[in-house]
Amino acid sequence: MHILLSSFSMITGLPEIFGYFFVFVFGAVVGSFLNVLIHRVPREESIVFPNSACPNCKQSIKPYDNIPLLSWLILSGKCRSCKNPISPRYPAVELLTALLFVLVFWQIGFNPFLPVGLIFAAAMIALIFIDAENMILPNVITYPLLVFALLVRLIFPLFLSASYFSDLKVSPLNQMEDYPIWLVSLFGAVLGGLVGGGSLWLVGEIWKRLRGVEAMGLGDVKMMFAVGALLGWRLTLLTIFIGAFTGAVVGMLVISRQKEKDFQAQIPFGIFLGIGSIVALLFGEQMVSWYIETFLPG
Ligand SMILES: [Zn+2]
Repeated sequence: MHILLSSFSMITGLPEIFGYFFVFVFGAVVGSFLNVLIHRVPREESIVFPNSACPNCKQSIKPYDNIPLLSWLILSGKCRSCKNPISPRYPAVELLTALLFVLVFWQIGFNPFLPVGLIFAAAMIALIFIDAENMILPNVITYPLLVFALLVRLIFPLFLSASYFSDLKVSPLNQMEDYPIWLVSLFGAVLGGLVGGGSLWLVGEIWKRLRGVEAMGLGDVKMMFAVGALLGWRLTLLTIFIGAFTGAVVGMLVISRQKEKDFQAQIPFGIFLGIGSIVALLFGEQMVSWYIETFLPG
């Protein structure tokens, strides 16, 4: 364990704290890009052109006013030309991404799976904030995330290591010894995808037949297919459990604060599934082991 944790300093010769600092700064920069995605993807605008501009005075933002976290502080949260307030969402997403990247680095360590964890976390932040604002989980994020998950599932066992996928060590995948490991890994991806996307789709279909209302968006189904493909069936079940539990708690709070009770209140479920998937990525293995040791001993 100690060897794993100190690998950044072993490889680079720098103290471990530098690793955390680099990852934090990198996270803030990525968060700044995620702000562009969160703003433009739902509006179907290009994410590379034009440069960012103030939504109020349309003045384009100078590079020195576009430094993650710092610019917002230096400008006291106001546009340099028109003094209109800049949404605190911008520094919030940058800080959140930076802190989440530090957590991913802490949990995964300095190894080939680190970029996978960082990309997954970044995609989830984009999806969570887009769902919160627009109640959609756009295909332009969920489809590439699914392709990415399948590629990782194929490439890691072939060229790097399959040890990052915990579902390969448990049933049913650990019984497929006769097959090449990359095929078992891909099978695990499909199984995880079906557990994630398939189960949500089924719940949505049953609800639709019973109540005649659309309960589950297809965006959630696609997102959970991608999550399941990467994390495997166990961590995907954990994701759905965390998502459903936190979603239900928040949903009840929302309904209890309504003056006129509307139990059909629309809650963007993608937010909670996104949070659940990040928790599952970071702490899922520990949580699943704890659950098995506590409730299913022997
Ligand atoms: Zn302005």
